[in-house]
Amino acid sequence: MTTTTSHFINGSWTEPGGRTFAVSNPLNDEIVAEAASGTVVDAAAAVAAAAAAFPAWANMGPSARQALFLKAADIVERRTEELVRLMAVEGGASRAFSTFQIRLSAAMLRQAAGWGYLPAGDVLRSDTPGRMALVTRKPLGVVAGFTPWNGAFYLAWRTFLLPMAFGNTTVIKPSELAPMSSGLVHAEILQEAGFPAGSFNVVTNAPGDAAAIAEVFFESLAVRCINFTGSDKTARILGERAGRALKRMVLELGGFNPVIILDDADLAESVKAVTFGAFLHQGQVCMNSRKVYVARALHDEFVSALSARVQSLKVGDPTDPEVIIGPLINDAAVEQMDLRVQDALDRGATLVTGGHADGRLYPPTILTRVPAGAICTTGSDETFGPLLVIEAFDDLEEALRDAQDTPYGLSASIMTGDRARGLDIAQRFDSGIVHVNAPTMASEASLPVGGVKASGWGRSGYYSLEDFTEIRLTTMSSEPGRYPF
Ligand code: ADP
Repeated sequence: MTTTTSHFINGSWTEPGGRTFAVSNPLNDEIVAEAASGTVVDAAAAVAAAAAAFPAWANMGPSARQALFLKAADIVERRTEELVRLMAVEGGASRAFSTFQIRLSAAMLRQAAGWGYLPAGDVLRSDTPGRMALVTRKPLGVVAGFTPWNGAFYLAWRTFLLPMAFGNTTVIKPSELAPMSSGLVHAEILQEAGFPAGSFNVVTNAPGDAAAIAEVFFESLAVRCINFTGSDKTARILGERAGRALKRMVLELGGFNPVIILDDADLAESVKAVTFGAFLHQGQVCMNSRKVYVARALHDEFVSALSARVQSLKVGDPTDPEVIIGPLINDAAVEQMDLRVQDALDRGATLVTGGHADGRLYPPTILTRVPAGAICTTGSDETFGPLLVIEAFDDLEEALRDAQDTPYGLSASIMTGDRARGLDIAQRFDSGIVHVNAPTMASEASLPVGGVKASGWGRSGYYSLEDFTEIRLTTMSSEPGRYPF
């Protein structure tokens, strides 16, 4: 029997009923669940619940909040096997990717658990005699989060957990493509952990209904921030609307994520880092590497070693723990891959490996000698799939210029045997994240992940304090004032 999922509002699951939409396994179209098609009424109820829960949650003592977060981390780990299966059947995630997300999620919960003990502000000196100035950091209120289908489990935690750790309450609108692993399963976990009613709410919506739900968030005075993880295309629509509502936005968007392999790099390490960085989750993560610039002296050897390694990755049903490359999320993703591979080949590119899908299973695909102008190599549009372009360079400065000639600026890698040289390049690279001798996907829960330019605004980890709190100034004078009139 197919599960029918409900919304999670004010600490309870709404009665199933009304319209639903099918959530299907991207591998074989089997129905995984029927999810509730939320309406503006559901969204408004969720916002009202979050607003009502805000004062108590914002003022909860640090130890009480800490206990909840730690308990949730334990529940995440206890449910590992079930979560691995859910991420496989709903989102096509391999075991390698889902366990990576589970580890990061538990780590983030445990780190955020302690943030309630951070200093609540500063006491500043004033130039006015007898005046004390208090700067107090306060949560914003209700944060409405849009969670994506890719990296669904971890990215959903990141979308609501960080605001909650700083005292905000939340409403989540999960992706239509994976509502369970991008929000509903989190509600089960937080409910079991004993989070107060209304502190966390989830409203799912059928494809096509997102804009109406979003409008409820923009219209509500209680919603003080929209936290969006997704494509820059949708972010531009939401950003325009947020401008009219004068509402704060935090955006975690896509990236082009170049890798530069210098002539002194360790070839075997570079091959491993690029395989992982480019092909984890079939290239459907914002931090996957899309293009590698490799010093010409290493180019041919690198390409053949990389090609051999990626061909050894098992492609198939991700419920098989040996499988590394599962299906792409939908037909549109396959079509986008086909179109871009064909576009490059038509222009004279060389196909090293991959290039043809079997259903939605698209093997890792590598192109070299891609002429300028091909869609996949321009850097202006992220190819959200297992497609990697490799280019030999003679002039490092030219390669660096080209690698940054993109609207995106999320992550980049420099592979080199000379760490000081790597650090020097990294420091002048225009990107939110640059790793020296690690893949573009080298995330950790504690590190401030986030982009510059069209890759977004805001950072994860502790630095999200700046995104999800605001400061209030209070002064207190103990001497009579001196006034000019
Ligand atoms: P993807 O296309 O990869 O799913 P998007 O960034 O386009 O990623 O969408 C992510 C989220 O944005 C989803 O939850 C979706 O429902 C929502 N969304 C898409 N279009 C709109 C829109 N016009 N208004 C509000 N939300 C939207």
